[in-house]
Amino acid sequence: MSDQHHSAADLLRELFPDTHRELFGEAASERAPTLGLYEVADGRLALVHGDQLAEFTPIAPKGSSALHCDLCHYTRSRSEAQIYRVVVAARRTRYITLCSPTDPCQKRAGVGGLTHLADRIFPIETVHSE
Ligand SMILES: [Zn+2]
Repeated sequence: MSDQHHSAADLLRELFPDTHRELFGEAASERAPTLGLYEVADGRLALVHGDQLAEFTPIAPKGSSALHCDLCHYTRSRSEAQIYRVVVAARRTRYITLCSPTDPCQKRAGVGGLTHLADRIFPIETVHSE
């Protein structure tokens, strides 16, 4: 039994029910991965680490210089990467550049790369709307 696995899957199910079904199936939360980036609706990504989850929202890049992937550290052209905005606290936002698509990028980066990325994002301060 692992509470961590359960809470990551539960959080994902709550926020992105369709993605949760795709990733974990209807009754497979025990086997849910605890670290990874998952494509969700509208071009967004969800970074899951243990019981934490961060939402990456794609933004239009400014300028025309090459992009540097923050996960696998390859240099990418504009068409090969995407910049994401991640709200980590009420008034703090991080910008993360990632290869597109994310699957081969995550394979290149491996668990070590994903852990490093997660360490830059988490913990996220819960933002309450007022
Ligand atoms: Zn990459």
